[in-house]
Amino acid sequence: MKEEAATSRNRKRKRQRNPETPRKEPYETPKNQNNEKKRQRDIKINGGSSASSKSSNFLHALREKLSGGNFRRLNEKLYTCSGQEALDYFNEDPSLFDMYHTGYQQQMSNWPELPVNSIINWLSSRSSSFVVADFGCGDARIAKSVKNKVFSFDLVSKDPSVIACDMSNTPLESSSVDVAVFCLSLMGTNYSSYIKEAHRVLRPSGWLLIAEVKSRFDSNNGGADPKDFVKAVSDLGFSSSLKDFSNKMFILLHFKKKEQLNSNKKKIEWPELKACLYKRR
Ligand code: SAH
Repeated sequence: MKEEAATSRNRKRKRQRNPETPRKEPYETPKNQNNEKKRQRDIKINGGSSASSKSSNFLHALREKLSGGNFRRLNEKLYTCSGQEALDYFNEDPSLFDMYHTGYQQQMSNWPELPVNSIINWLSSRSSSFVVADFGCGDARIAKSVKNKVFSFDLVSKDPSVIACDMSNTPLESSSVDVAVFCLSLMGTNYSSYIKEAHRVLRPSGWLLIAEVKSRFDSNNGGADPKDFVKAVSDLGFSSSLKDFSNKMFILLHFKKKEQLNSNKKKIEWPELKACLYKRR
């Protein structure tokens, strides 16, 4: 059942990615209809290996390659600039955001399990009166899946429920939310300022849930040492409550905001989080 749904979703995605996938449209000119008939005949006769179907496959592959390249570039940009730069970048051309998210969804379709679903499950098992802030919400899947009041933030708003902003500076009141979520969104070079913002808006004892790409925390491979990261977040004023490394693709870290403000004002050492770059296929 699940697989069937995923396959039909993938098919749908493929159609969206490639709007020119041959489909009989009512507005096709007779010439195109003839071409389409010829293509169908070629497929029957030659099993789809005619010159025209070969060239359409080639164009399809080329288009995929170009959009994959654009996604990789945008992804690298987001991991190597500050949140404010990313906001300015997308404000200049919001269509780049769609391009990024099409590529992102495609990458995610290869993951056996999505971290956002772990977060949705966690929220569903708690009180629905918890107010949630979803930092870097993407398509706002959390808000769409739970009963809670969810404030969804991203650099560009593709849905009226999403507030467009750099998440180091949200319009939320201090101590106003119960749960702050970062699901694969600690992307900017100034990621610590996002966690500081979450600390500001969380009420005492509120939850901070972080899901991140596992390789970013692989200290044998240029990633951060998870201990250093947990220490930095704790020094800011949280206590660690869960470290889950069991998934192959992502890690889950849960924290609770301390009741008391940290009196210790020593400088927090935030480890650098390795960019998550995707390989060329
Ligand atoms: N949380 C979603 C989307 C993850 S992709 C999910 O799990 O599916 C990461 C998202 O974080 C992107 O949509 C990106 O635009 C957003 N993001 C990155 N830096 C941001 C910033 N400084 N402010 C707001 N959103 C940011």
